[in-house]
Amino acid sequence: MGKVIGIDLGTTNSCVSVVENGEPVIIPGKSGAQTTPSIVAFSKNGERLVGEAARRQAVTNTERTISSVKRQMGTNWSIRIDGTEYKPQTISAMILMQLKKDAEEFLGEPVTEAVITVPAYFNDIQRQATKDAGRIAGLDVKRIINEPTSAALSYGLDHGEPQKVMVYDLGGGTFDVSIIEIGEGVIEVLATAGDNHLGGDDFDERIRSWIIRVFKAEHHIDLSRDIAAMTRVTEAAEQAKKTLSSAESAHIELPYLMMGKDGPIHLDMVLTRGQFEGLIKDLVERTEEPVRSALNDAGIAASELGRVLLVGGSTRVPAVQAKVRALTGKEPSRNINPDECVAKGAAILGNTLQGNPLAVAGASQELLLLDVIPLSLSIETVGGVATRLVERNSTLPTRYSRVFSTAAPYQRDVEINVLQGERPMARDNKSIGKFRLKGIRRAPAGVPQIEVTFSIDTNGILTVSAKDLDTGKEQSIVITADDRMSEEEIRQAMWDAGEYAGQDQLRREAMELTSEAQRFLVQVQQALKTGGNQLEKAQKKQIKSDCADLQKMLSRFRVDKVSQTEMEDIRRAKERLEQSAAVLHI
Ligand code: AMP
Repeated sequence: MGKVIGIDLGTTNSCVSVVENGEPVIIPGKSGAQTTPSIVAFSKNGERLVGEAARRQAVTNTERTISSVKRQMGTNWSIRIDGTEYKPQTISAMILMQLKKDAEEFLGEPVTEAVITVPAYFNDIQRQATKDAGRIAGLDVKRIINEPTSAALSYGLDHGEPQKVMVYDLGGGTFDVSIIEIGEGVIEVLATAGDNHLGGDDFDERIRSWIIRVFKAEHHIDLSRDIAAMTRVTEAAEQAKKTLSSAESAHIELPYLMMGKDGPIHLDMVLTRGQFEGLIKDLVERTEEPVRSALNDAGIAASELGRVLLVGGSTRVPAVQAKVRALTGKEPSRNINPDECVAKGAAILGNTLQGNPLAVAGASQELLLLDVIPLSLSIETVGGVATRLVERNSTLPTRYSRVFSTAAPYQRDVEINVLQGERPMARDNKSIGKFRLKGIRRAPAGVPQIEVTFSIDTNGILTVSAKDLDTGKEQSIVITADDRMSEEEIRQAMWDAGEYAGQDQLRREAMELTSEAQRFLVQVQQALKTGGNQLEKAQKKQIKSDCADLQKMLSRFRVDKVSQTEMEDIRRAKERLEQSAAVLHI
């Protein structure tokens, strides 16, 4: 049985881990780093780049580089490149395929199973999209687990004593706060809250706007109109932010940023930590409400918290740490690595799902993971009201049934709109799908009895079923949302992914073959020049003709259009030249 890997599929960076000898270890990426940038790019010659390689060329290839795709999960965002439409799931799948490959190289065996983490605040569609991305990448996703829960899981292993902890997770694009009870072998999420659109990217944006403002005041030029300049500004803004986590001021220097009327303009500014804190004050304050709401839902005071764990790169910002201190009255734990603990927790869960016991200080235990649903589930009823069926923070898995009837006489079918969110009116919540109950027996209004059941599995994914209590007939209901991929689309994407992997392999082989052939060709041509006089005329003619053949093929060769047949032709032409040029003793 192969190993189950744990994947933290992050907005900015992703991380993969596996349990070896009872301990979760981080699998390094191609470049040797512990995390892989969540960036995908398509180079001009059609080559697909993932991670560090994609990040490095981002500045010069902005239109064909995709970053922060996690922010688009579960939306109908898409990007068209070279005539192919890519959805967030397919782009995420490319990142997952890279992580899978890294894991396979690390372990020396195929990897087909994974646990993937998502922000606790991800709704049903976003979770399903993440699961679909896993399938497209050729992974059987054993479990979708909330990032804070996963962090607590990796933390809980090292610190056995039972306690309630707060996980404050501020990443690149999302904020999650969870109150979790860690017992012996039991991790129970008591409450979770957060903001799906708050994170370090917003801090960057504030610095970027500040740079634009200062630049405009100095040079009377609107930088935001210059895409190339803005790409550099964006990178510099993030870098300045990171610098300010350890230094009191950051020097932002971008020479030759753009051409002005009187020649090149260099950007040279200093941002102090105090100024930066002023720029992000309201953003940091926005984490306050979810913290209070999570504590409230868990029914505990901040003073009852054993520990506060910081997760996510943005918790390195001193103002964020100060906010956590002020809100909880506790010094946050620093002894966990915010970049790695989420993936490690997922690897631990993956390992226990295979039936392996939890290794805690030598004791063997089963793991019981009790997570919660982050947002309430409702359905739309008369007057556009959201009627609550499952309360947020209900422990998973959960089932809820309710009997419905018809509103009009002899009504044969009814449409049900399933909503996720806390607002009283349907229109203010997120519609995660609609379904139509058909074939209801003709009867006066209010007579048919239809039992609708919502089941939410351990991944937080919802399925809905309905039963006609009159006839006992069950109806199978498929939740459909515009931004969810159909089964057919997923299959197509899986096929494309396999095809793509094949193409990547073919391109790599083609690059190797053609550069090898090119090298040999140059060698032969040089040897002909120096030692050609000693050859017979016919021999020389043959070599020249074989050189010309190969040269012609190589000049026609385009890596993005290569086929197996073309490679075979090049291989044969090279072999012919090797035979005729053997007399040159290269
Ligand atoms: P994550 O999604 O957890 O990988 O967090 C990524 C976010 O953390 C990005 O917005 C990064 O810019 C931010 N980040 C990473 N390192 C630091 C740092 N040293 N100081 C401030 N923010 C950071």
